[in-house]
Amino acid sequence: MDSLDAFARDKLAALEAGALRRRLTATERGPEAAAERGGRRLVSFSCNDYLGLSHHPRVIAAGQAALAGFGAGSGGSRLVTGNHPILDALEARLARHKGAEAALVFGSGYLANLGITPALAGRGDLVLLDELSHACMWAGARLSGARVLAFRHNDAGHLAALLAEHRAAHRHAVLMTERVFSMDGDRAPMADILGVAAAYDAWTLVDDAHGLGIVEDGPRAPLEMGTLSKALGSYGGYLCASRALVDLLTSRARSFVYTTGLPPASAASALEALTILEAEPERCARPLTLARRFTARLGLPEAESAVVPVLVGEAEAALTLSAALEAAGFLVVAIRPPTVPAGTARLRVAFSAAHREDQVDALAEAVARLTGG
Ligand SMILES: *Cc1c(COP(=O)(O)O)cnc(C)c1O
Repeated sequence: MDSLDAFARDKLAALEAGALRRRLTATERGPEAAAERGGRRLVSFSCNDYLGLSHHPRVIAAGQAALAGFGAGSGGSRLVTGNHPILDALEARLARHKGAEAALVFGSGYLANLGITPALAGRGDLVLLDELSHACMWAGARLSGARVLAFRHNDAGHLAALLAEHRAAHRHAVLMTERVFSMDGDRAPMADILGVAAAYDAWTLVDDAHGLGIVEDGPRAPLEMGTLSKALGSYGGYLCASRALVDLLTSRARSFVYTTGLPPASAASALEALTILEAEPERCARPLTLARRFTARLGLPEAESAVVPVLVGEAEAALTLSAALEAAGFLVVAIRPPTVPAGTARLRVAFSAAHREDQVDALAEAVARLTGG
């Protein structure tokens, strides 16, 4: 056995021992929150398709028309030949939706976060982010070469203390948080955070991956990024900001410049989804209503978004609970470290406008039964 495979096997054995090895499971998704695994039909509470738009007939038709008319791939970087006009149309609509001057579409939300921070901060600068920030925000922060500090989750006071201590020694400061936290479903205190940012001249970047279409109230940040892959049911990422910032990032965000433009079909589907999102407020209200129905039934803290964590503790126990729910017909994936802090393995329950009330009630009953609640 060569040393390369030996290396991989050793690493895998260690992951296995900690119940941290990850495996792929073939899953087919359908309308109405259906998911099929191993020939069994399940109700999925694990998709980020919060508005059920990934299978909406109009969203599919828009993608099909773009695919037939414009081809499967975009053919190059957007700065070369990959900038199909539908991307400009999508950016104009995203900017209007967010009340921003301009928008820039990236290949994915991960790529957006990898590119934005390093274009704004570098050596001699400071990046502060909420300790529970998504992996791609950490990746962008570290890639920037700036000094990176984490503030306690949703603690604007701790953020202010860190800025009071460190801001003066740095040229620029970038501050990052999520409007809705991806694994906890709670919301950042945006007014407090923006107040602290203003006091210390820190530039705020908010990740709105789980907010768009679900919880849109509250103040906006000068930099709002997000994804086309959750409530919009498609694929791709975006940043909404001022014209000057969008122009700067068009030239300087390396994950924008040196990668292929988003396929036109993904943009067309996202654009149609955004039209539906804006026209159907009842659809947008439904995920939070269903999440609150679930938390009320289980006596959990009231849901603040479409995401509800059911904390379990150890990774092994979370996997066992997830398997038992799957046997009962529900797909609720266990989330383990390092995605979440050690000892906080959990089920992450995601609600969608595509769920029915009786499905939510049945899941709540199953969780209560299996956790002895
Ligand atoms: C999903 C997610 C992303 C990444 O978006 P993709 O388009 O899937 O790459 C970024 N930030 C947060 C908070 C997310 O949940």
